[in-house]
Amino acid sequence: DSITADMIRQSVKDQNVEFLRLMFTDINGINKNVEVPVSQLEKVLANKITFDGSSIDGFVRIEESDMLLYPDLDTWLLFPWENDGGKIARLICSVHTPDGKPFPGDPRNNLIRVMEEAHAAGYTAFNIGPEPEFFLFKLDANGDPSLKLNDKGSYFDFAPLDMGENCRRDIVLELEKMNFEVEASHHEVAPGQHEIDFKYADAVNAADNIQTFKLVVKTIARKHGLYATFMPKPIHGINGSGMHINMSLFNKDGNAFYDAGTADQLSRTAMHFLAGLLAHARGLTAINNPTVNSYKRLVPGFEAPVYIAWSGTNRSPLIRVPQSRKLGTRLEMRSVDATANPYLAIAAVLEAGLDGVRNQLDPEEAVDRNIYKMQDTERKANHIQDLPSTLHNAIKALEDDAVVKAALGDHLYHSFKDSKDLEWAAYRQSVSEWEREQYLELY
Ligand code: GLN
Ligand code: MG
Ligand code: MG
Ligand code: MG
Repeated sequence: DSITADMIRQSVKDQNVEFLRLMFTDINGINKNVEVPVSQLEKVLANKITFDGSSIDGFVRIEESDMLLYPDLDTWLLFPWENDGGKIARLICSVHTPDGKPFPGDPRNNLIRVMEEAHAAGYTAFNIGPEPEFFLFKLDANGDPSLKLNDKGSYFDFAPLDMGENCRRDIVLELEKMNFEVEASHHEVAPGQHEIDFKYADAVNAADNIQTFKLVVKTIARKHGLYATFMPKPIHGINGSGMHINMSLFNKDGNAFYDAGTADQLSRTAMHFLAGLLAHARGLTAINNPTVNSYKRLVPGFEAPVYIAWSGTNRSPLIRVPQSRKLGTRLEMRSVDATANPYLAIAAVLEAGLDGVRNQLDPEEAVDRNIYKMQDTERKANHIQDLPSTLHNAIKALEDDAVVKAALGDHLYHSFKDSKDLEWAAYRQSVSEWEREQYLELY
């Protein structure tokens, strides 16, 4: 089902498309786009649209700033919501250097590279099913986000407690118009918090979908006078928002994680892959939880993982093996949050897992009890390590993890590290309200 240039030309005519949005993602996972009027369509299709890469975070030095956008025609999509005048369509692009080579600092190019290597090793797909969570806050009179939640609902509640229901339903409808297959959508545990799960897809498509999803959620929330945020922990004392990642690896015989012949029907590959994720869990954390705020979520007591362990039943560990088997056999990594750049996160977890497969690593025993409630000594006896507790510790763990670094490639690793070092340095120097409350009068 690949889309050709002629199909796009036809769609532009039939649908009265007026603008084309050429999308790509910066190092911080932020959606970027260059919008051109439809008169530029031929130039777009000929890979001739340029933009100044030096102004994009994590891209390039000034002297190589004229980057080219190569659209991936299969990502052609019309935004279904109303605009004055004609419609807007988008294409997700690959960033290329002026001499036409894929730019290694483009996270999407990097994921394509990592997937090509996986294909060469005999894997046909790395399927990712994300579970993004987000909060809906009210917009104030100026149209700016306030800290007022829009409901008092909780897990799986109905209206009227779930005032976000109409907004969430509208988001789901828009997603469906854009060919998303939404599998579930529900109110989450915290007031104002929601989750929408859509069908798994192969690595690059899954990352594209996550980026498109965030755009749709934010756009539709605004139409309801609400602001949607994927910030991991906007309010202390209640649950934060994660984006659990369900993953499965396929080869020519089907799901490589499934084996009808073992006691738990998990294959050796699944166990090695799981062991790889655990072995690299600390190194992966900076990629999967890349903001200062991510670490405010990874604390005990709020259903977010804090310790490196796995389980088939309990939901406190980092990795859970859902009951589903056969085609649906999968591993769920629960640490990831939606501030992660999905192209980087998917490349990194794939390489971590494959490292476990290549080296035939075996995981520690499953921990089927609530790890939050264990004593430190008990965790130690069970070889349960902590996830890094701050962005700073996570960056240090990444520095020490050659496999995760290789998953990013040199260019992306260095721009990521530079960007995160700056973020941490800025945070270190800030003085918070909490500190003034604690210390101003006491000392
Ligand atoms: N919001 C929780 C988190 O931070 C997850 C809650 C759930 O999906 N059970 O990961
Ligand atoms: Mg869920
Ligand atoms: Mg959830
Ligand atoms: Mg989940």
